[in-house]
Amino acid sequence: MRGLEWGRLYETYRKQPYNPQKVSEEVKKLYADPYVKTRKGIFEYILGGSVDTKLLDVRVFDEATKKSVYAKQTQESEEKGISNCPLCAIGHVANKSKIWKLTEMDADHVTAWSKGGSTDTKNCQMLCKTHNRAKGNR
Ligand SMILES: [Zn+2]
Repeated sequence: MRGLEWGRLYETYRKQPYNPQKVSEEVKKLYADPYVKTRKGIFEYILGGSVDTKLLDVRVFDEATKKSVYAKQTQESEEKGISNCPLCAIGHVANKSKIWKLTEMDADHVTAWSKGGSTDTKNCQMLCKTHNRAKGNR
């Protein structure tokens, strides 16, 4: 475990109770996860309560996936006359029927990666950037 700032990690997380066996299992699981790109963030991610996925740099949807999901979502929304951002469509704001451009949207995991959701077309939805940010990078 070279390159880890143990001093800082210890200071930040020492007050948090954790189960060493559980931590070790989590570490093993994440090391084996093909979606985790930054392995040196694994310890801090777990000690921090497994919430900050930015530490792991979890693999994101590629452009081809985004484009195909965007096209499908936009077509369906246009037929229904609602926004192609599912969260705008159910909102009470002016964007209810807004069709966003691809560049105005970001891909989101329907089932969060941290809850077992995969990074493929079936688990991808496009949200407008505002809603994607509000939902957090999970
Ligand atoms: Zn939206």
